[in-house]
Amino acid sequence: PYPLVLEIGMAKAPKNAISPTRSEDYPEWYQQVIKAADLAEASPVRGCMVIKPWGYALWENMQRALDDKFKATGHQNAYFPLFIPMSYLEKEAEHVEGFAKECAVVTHHRLEPDPEGGLRPAGPLEEPLIVRPTSETIIGATYAKWVQSYRDLPIKINQWANVVRWELRTRMFLRTAEFLWQEGHTVHATSEEAMEETQQMVDVYADFAERWMAMPVIRGYKTPAERFPGAVETLSIEAMMQDRKALQAGTSHFLGQNFSKAQEIQFQDQDGNLQHAWTTSWGVSTRLVGALIMTHSDDDGLVLPPRLAPAQIVILPIYRDDEQRTEVMAYVDSLKQELAAQTMAGQTLRVEVDDRDIRGGEKKWYHVKRGVPIRIEVGPKDIAKNAAFVTRRDTGKSQGMDRAELVASIADMLCDMQKGLYDRALKLREDNTCQIDNEADFRAYFTPKNADNPEPHGGFAHCHFADEQDLEALLKELKVTIRCIPQENNDEPGKCFLTGKPAKHRGVFAKAY
Ligand code: AMP
Repeated sequence: PYPLVLEIGMAKAPKNAISPTRSEDYPEWYQQVIKAADLAEASPVRGCMVIKPWGYALWENMQRALDDKFKATGHQNAYFPLFIPMSYLEKEAEHVEGFAKECAVVTHHRLEPDPEGGLRPAGPLEEPLIVRPTSETIIGATYAKWVQSYRDLPIKINQWANVVRWELRTRMFLRTAEFLWQEGHTVHATSEEAMEETQQMVDVYADFAERWMAMPVIRGYKTPAERFPGAVETLSIEAMMQDRKALQAGTSHFLGQNFSKAQEIQFQDQDGNLQHAWTTSWGVSTRLVGALIMTHSDDDGLVLPPRLAPAQIVILPIYRDDEQRTEVMAYVDSLKQELAAQTMAGQTLRVEVDDRDIRGGEKKWYHVKRGVPIRIEVGPKDIAKNAAFVTRRDTGKSQGMDRAELVASIADMLCDMQKGLYDRALKLREDNTCQIDNEADFRAYFTPKNADNPEPHGGFAHCHFADEQDLEALLKELKVTIRCIPQENNDEPGKCFLTGKPAKHRGVFAKAY
């Protein structure tokens, strides 16, 4: 029977847990990873999603890390209402124009039986209410009451909330109609201080993206057409996904005095003069979960950077009968304690034991698909050697390890994975980034090589440009956008790649989500 079994085994093509693979169909692969890792599922309301426990635990870890950073930079949390009176939105012209098309509007305050059957809305509201798409207007109106004197400034508040933007084309996590986020809203006495805050928060986001998510990002200024409605300056972090498209992963807005003038946030300065304050706002959302999936995951499912993984290690006990079970579980429990006492980046490790009564292969794949960084199998043979069998999710490599050595090196292994994921993502970006200085090269870079493959073959192109309006038609034709004007290494002047006009700096051009 042996050779036969072997033959059958070898005849099997190498199979991945996720179908289609990334190269076969990247967008569908993304949906399948979400399903296989049990992160979220669609809801009865189009564009809204159910975030399942594993996905929510990931978001909670993100929240915790970000919240610590916000507090460390002097912010406090508060909560403002979900509903915004319609008139509030009307006050800032650009803002309302930007969001009007996406607003969910509440017009009634109760239901009544419909004579034709079922229910119908009743009790029209005097003034319709908007479900917040973002809270500048309602928070600004509140701040106007709180601020009288320079002594009341700065105000540095963040809120964790849900918002609704009635997006037409949605995709789980990346763009949903309702999403979870944090929005920081600050008020300052001077323009300089508000701009410093704007910069500080985009720096916080970049640090979080790179050191926690292991996702390299480019920090930069948005062009006027891409700015937040009502902002004077928008800073963003932009990341490259594995299909070489860009994803805007966080934004920080310098709002100047636009909102303080619309909402009368005024203060008396030290000389007794009445002045309009300077405000900022900044936010990241559950889109970051999508960014994480698209940055690291592979054809076997989710791959998680250890710093954010809900479980960093899972121990899988292996036994045949009750007698073995007692022995194995005693070993596993004490190993779990020892591992959980180790620390990575100042935090004790998150270790789980999976003792469910299901087939070994199935159990292994369950954790592979969910992206648990390290799996440790322990059976009677390992116990006899005072050892364990260890597998890394990032490389797929397995090895038997002495127990003491495993405990002593586990934190290093996780750090190594964290760094390895970052390096891999950075290499992908570097391998798919270039500088382009003329139209022909630009067109060639962003035109698919063959019609069957609609994916762009280009990645990020750094190009000089003077005026974004000159580029509008070309960018529309090629479905390319200016992601940002990078803040770093971007002092060299040149000529616009399309018009030849003198240009101060380069922008990053890419297809984007
Ligand atoms: P904004 O207020 O438009 O600057 O967006 C703040 C943050 O929310 C940014 O990081 C966006 O990437 C993210 N975001 C915007 N729209 C959506 C959406 N429909 N779904 C998920 N995240 C979003």
